[in-house]
Amino acid sequence: MALSLRFGKHKGRTVEWLFFNDPGYVYWMVEQGIDKDTKWFNVHQQSEFEALIRKASHIRIPGICSWCRQEPVTRMFLTVHTSGGLACVDFDCDNCAPEGRGSVALPPGFWTPDFFRNYDKTGAKFLVDAIKSRMFGSRSHRMTEKRITEFWSNNDNFVNE
Ligand SMILES: [Zn+2]
Repeated sequence: MALSLRFGKHKGRTVEWLFFNDPGYVYWMVEQGIDKDTKWFNVHQQSEFEALIRKASHIRIPGICSWCRQEPVTRMFLTVHTSGGLACVDFDCDNCAPEGRGSVALPPGFWTPDFFRNYDKTGAKFLVDAIKSRMFGSRSHRMTEKRITEFWSNNDNFVNE
């Protein structure tokens, strides 16, 4: 069952859809505690929401490290633009990508530390496009409702800990 929104500018859309189209909004909801508000999500939906959030930050990126081109991908490497937004996304392994100024390494996923706080729409697009490019072979891969449902329900797409 998809989690539909009954409020706001994305009313009628699903949380599953939001990750691919406006991920900053999902994390804004979490920050506001809306995901835990029984006015909008019942207890069952709240645990679904929680499961989605977890999956969204544990994506199994197929293919190999874009730097050494040997190891499987274990993290994403984000580069910060001088304006403060997200400028670049790379997928690499734990052995590569020395951390320098203005960059951060994270488990691959839709969550980023601060980039969405000021509604970094360009950065959000970079991130979603990079994930789509790796997962589906093209950054312009059209995410229909059917494909979105398939993505979230396929456990092979996520890393279990
Ligand atoms: Zn590597």
